[in-house]
Amino acid sequence: MGAILVCPSCESEHGDDARFCSQCGMPLVRAGGGEARVNERQERARKIKPQYAQGALVRAVWARNQAEAELIEGMLLEEGIPSVMRRPQGFDVPDFMAAGPRELLVARSGLEAAREVLLQNDIAPRGLAPSSTPRATRLLAALLLGLALLTVVLFMAIHVWD
Ligand SMILES: [Zn+2]
Repeated sequence: MGAILVCPSCESEHGDDARFCSQCGMPLVRAGGGEARVNERQERARKIKPQYAQGALVRAVWARNQAEAELIEGMLLEEGIPSVMRRPQGFDVPDFMAAGPRELLVARSGLEAAREVLLQNDIAPRGLAPSSTPRATRLLAALLLGLALLTVVLFMAIHVWD
C-alpha cells in the first residue's frame, strides 16, 4: 500500500512515485498522521525539564485506570516532569480486569516536584496509596474465591447426603 502524498501548497493529492506537485511544482509531503505524531513527540520532549529526568524510576502515584493515569501524566508533563505509566507490579489480574489500576513512575530527581503537582491538584489523598494496596485487594479476592468454593462444596455435600 503506497502512501499518499499531498501538496502542502494547493493540497492536490499524488501517488507515492511523485516528488513534486504537478499543479504548482511544490515538493510533496506525506498525507496522514505521520507528521502530527512526530510533532506530538517533539512537543513532549520540549516540555521535559532535564533536571526532573535524572535517576532511577520510582513510584510516584497510583491511578484507578488508564484514563486517570493519562490525565495525571499530562499534569506532570505540564510542569516538565516526564513519567512512565505501567500496570502495577505483582498485580496479576485476569483479563476481565485489564482496565484496572495503573501506576506512574518518575525519575528520582522529579519525585519531589511530582508530589507538589499532585498535592496542588488534590490527587495525593487517594492517589498516593501505599504499595500494599494491590496485595490487600488480591488477598481479599482470594478470600472471596475461597468462600465461594467452600459454599459450593458444602452445598454439594448436603445434597449428596440427602
Ligand atoms: Zn500544488
